[in-house]
Amino acid sequence: MFKKLRPDIKCETIYEIDQDSLQKSGIRGLFFDIDNTMEPYSTPLPGERLSGWLSELCARGFAVGILSNAKQKRIESFVAGFPAELKDKIYYVFRAGKPLKKGFFKLCADAGLKPGQAAMVGDQLFTDIFGGNRSGLTTILVKPIDPSIEPPFVRFKRFFERPFL
Ligand SMILES: [Mg+2]
Repeated sequence: MFKKLRPDIKCETIYEIDQDSLQKSGIRGLFFDIDNTMEPYSTPLPGERLSGWLSELCARGFAVGILSNAKQKRIESFVAGFPAELKDKIYYVFRAGKPLKKGFFKLCADAGLKPGQAAMVGDQLFTDIFGGNRSGLTTILVKPIDPSIEPPFVRFKRFFERPFL
Protein backbone atom coordinates (compact mmCIF):
# COMPACT_ATOMS: atom_id res chain seq x y z
CA MET A 1 0.00 0.00 0.00
CA PHE A 2 2.71 2.52 0.97
CA LYS A 3 4.67 1.71 -2.16
CA LYS A 4 1.66 2.74 -4.21
CA LEU A 5 1.82 6.21 -2.65
CA ARG A 6 5.22 6.82 -4.21
CA PRO A 7 5.27 8.79 -7.48
CA ASP A 8 7.58 7.59 -10.24
CA ILE A 9 8.61 11.17 -10.99
CA LYS A 10 8.49 14.43 -9.02
CA CYS A 11 8.38 17.89 -10.62
CA GLU A 12 7.89 21.41 -9.31
CA THR A 13 5.23 22.20 -11.92
CA ILE A 14 3.75 20.54 -15.00
CA TYR A 15 5.99 22.74 -17.17
CA GLU A 16 9.10 20.93 -15.94
CA ILE A 17 7.89 17.53 -17.17
CA ASP A 18 10.55 16.07 -19.45
CA GLN A 19 8.70 15.18 -22.66
CA ASP A 20 11.74 13.54 -24.27
CA SER A 21 12.37 11.05 -21.52
CA LEU A 22 8.68 10.15 -21.28
CA GLN A 23 8.56 9.55 -25.01
CA LYS A 24 11.69 7.42 -24.82
CA SER A 25 10.15 5.28 -22.10
CA GLY A 26 7.11 4.58 -24.27
CA ILE A 27 4.64 7.03 -22.72
CA ARG A 28 2.14 8.21 -25.33
CA GLY A 29 -0.46 9.93 -23.19
CA LEU A 30 -0.46 12.43 -20.33
CA PHE A 31 -3.46 12.71 -18.04
CA PHE A 32 -3.83 15.65 -15.70
CA ASP A 33 -5.67 16.61 -12.57
CA ILE A 34 -7.02 20.18 -12.82
CA ASP A 35 -7.18 21.80 -9.39
CA ASN A 36 -3.78 22.89 -8.14
CA THR A 37 -2.08 20.83 -10.88
CA MET A 38 -3.01 22.68 -14.09
CA GLU A 39 -4.38 25.84 -12.48
CA PRO A 40 -5.08 27.01 -8.91
CA TYR A 41 -8.22 25.77 -7.16
CA SER A 42 -11.50 26.92 -8.70
CA THR A 43 -9.80 28.83 -11.53
CA PRO A 44 -12.69 28.75 -14.01
CA LEU A 45 -10.69 28.82 -17.26
CA PRO A 46 -7.30 27.59 -18.50
CA GLY A 47 -4.60 30.23 -18.94
CA GLU A 48 -2.55 30.89 -22.07
CA ARG A 49 0.58 29.23 -20.76
CA LEU A 50 -1.35 26.03 -20.06
CA SER A 51 -3.03 26.04 -23.47
CA GLY A 52 0.31 26.61 -25.18
CA TRP A 53 2.00 23.78 -23.35
CA LEU A 54 -0.83 21.29 -23.97
CA SER A 55 -0.83 22.22 -27.66
CA GLU A 56 2.89 21.43 -27.72
CA LEU A 57 2.21 18.01 -26.15
CA CYS A 58 -0.45 17.27 -28.78
CA ALA A 59 1.87 18.40 -31.57
CA ARG A 60 4.49 15.96 -30.31
CA GLY A 61 1.97 13.15 -30.57
CA PHE A 62 0.95 12.77 -26.94
CA ALA A 63 -2.69 12.12 -26.14
CA VAL A 64 -3.78 14.67 -23.53
CA GLY A 65 -6.47 13.93 -20.96
CA ILE A 66 -8.07 15.40 -17.87
CA LEU A 67 -9.02 13.16 -14.97
CA SER A 68 -10.88 15.03 -12.26
CA ASN A 69 -13.12 14.26 -9.34
CA ALA A 70 -14.91 17.55 -9.91
CA LYS A 71 -18.40 17.88 -11.34
CA GLN A 72 -19.33 17.70 -15.02
CA LYS A 73 -20.13 21.42 -15.20
CA ARG A 74 -16.74 22.44 -13.79
CA ILE A 75 -14.81 20.21 -16.19
CA GLU A 76 -16.83 20.98 -19.30
CA SER A 77 -16.66 24.74 -18.82
CA PHE A 78 -12.90 24.51 -18.14
CA VAL A 79 -12.30 22.44 -21.29
CA ALA A 80 -14.47 24.83 -23.31
CA GLY A 81 -11.97 27.55 -22.40
CA PHE A 82 -9.18 26.00 -24.49
CA PRO A 83 -8.59 27.31 -28.02
CA ALA A 84 -10.87 25.63 -30.57
CA GLU A 85 -8.10 23.58 -32.23
CA LEU A 86 -7.02 22.20 -28.86
CA LYS A 87 -10.26 21.50 -27.03
CA ASP A 88 -11.48 18.82 -29.43
CA LYS A 89 -8.29 16.86 -28.82
CA ILE A 90 -8.62 16.71 -25.06
CA TYR A 91 -10.08 13.57 -23.50
CA TYR A 92 -11.72 14.05 -20.14
CA VAL A 93 -13.45 12.18 -17.37
CA PHE A 94 -15.33 14.09 -14.66
CA ARG A 95 -16.42 12.70 -11.27
CA ALA A 96 -13.61 10.22 -11.77
CA GLY A 97 -13.73 8.89 -8.22
CA LYS A 98 -9.92 8.91 -7.97
CA PRO A 99 -8.26 6.80 -6.53
CA LEU A 100 -10.71 4.27 -7.99
CA LYS A 101 -9.35 2.65 -11.13
CA LYS A 102 -12.41 3.07 -13.36
CA GLY A 103 -11.68 6.67 -14.42
CA PHE A 104 -8.06 5.89 -15.28
CA PHE A 105 -9.14 2.91 -17.39
CA LYS A 106 -11.89 4.92 -19.09
CA LEU A 107 -9.44 7.63 -20.11
CA CYS A 108 -6.93 5.04 -21.36
CA ALA A 109 -9.64 3.35 -23.41
CA ASP A 110 -10.86 6.67 -24.85
CA ALA A 111 -7.30 7.60 -25.86
CA GLY A 112 -6.61 4.10 -27.24
CA LEU A 113 -3.76 3.48 -24.80
CA LYS A 114 -2.78 0.74 -22.41
CA PRO A 115 -2.25 1.90 -18.80
CA GLY A 116 1.49 1.32 -19.24
CA GLN A 117 1.54 3.87 -22.07
CA ALA A 118 0.03 6.68 -20.00
CA ALA A 119 1.21 8.94 -17.20
CA MET A 120 -0.96 10.56 -14.52
CA VAL A 121 0.08 14.03 -13.39
CA GLY A 122 -1.35 15.39 -10.14
CA ASP A 123 -0.73 17.18 -6.86
CA GLN A 124 -2.34 14.74 -4.43
CA LEU A 125 -0.85 11.48 -3.19
CA PHE A 126 -4.06 9.76 -2.08
CA THR A 127 -6.03 10.42 -5.26
CA ASP A 128 -3.80 11.14 -8.28
CA ILE A 129 -0.69 9.15 -7.36
CA PHE A 130 -2.26 6.25 -5.48
CA GLY A 131 -4.95 5.84 -8.16
CA GLY A 132 -2.46 6.11 -11.01
CA ASN A 133 -0.08 3.59 -9.47
CA ARG A 134 -2.73 0.99 -8.74
CA SER A 135 -4.07 1.36 -12.30
CA GLY A 136 -0.64 0.69 -13.81
CA LEU A 137 0.14 4.22 -15.07
CA THR A 138 3.41 6.08 -14.65
CA THR A 139 2.82 8.72 -11.96
CA ILE A 140 4.12 12.28 -11.78
CA LEU A 141 3.67 14.34 -8.63
CA VAL A 142 3.76 18.13 -8.90
CA LYS A 143 3.71 20.68 -6.08
CA PRO A 144 0.23 22.19 -5.50
CA ILE A 145 0.17 25.56 -7.29
CA ASP A 146 -1.44 27.45 -4.41
CA PRO A 147 -2.11 25.39 -1.27
CA SER A 148 -3.45 28.44 0.57
CA ILE A 149 -6.79 28.34 -1.28
CA GLU A 150 -7.52 24.64 -0.92
CA PRO A 151 -10.84 23.57 0.57
CA PRO A 152 -10.70 22.20 4.15
CA PHE A 153 -10.98 18.52 3.19
CA VAL A 154 -7.93 18.79 0.94
CA ARG A 155 -5.95 20.51 3.70
CA PHE A 156 -6.98 17.68 5.99
CA LYS A 157 -5.50 15.14 3.53
CA ARG A 158 -2.30 17.18 3.23
CA PHE A 159 -1.62 16.51 6.89
CA PHE A 160 -1.55 12.76 6.19
CA GLU A 161 0.51 13.15 3.02
CA ARG A 162 3.39 14.71 4.93
CA PRO A 163 5.07 11.51 6.14
CA PHE A 164 5.17 10.18 2.55
CA LEU A 165 6.61 13.26 0.84
MG1 LIG B 1 -5.57 18.56 -7.34
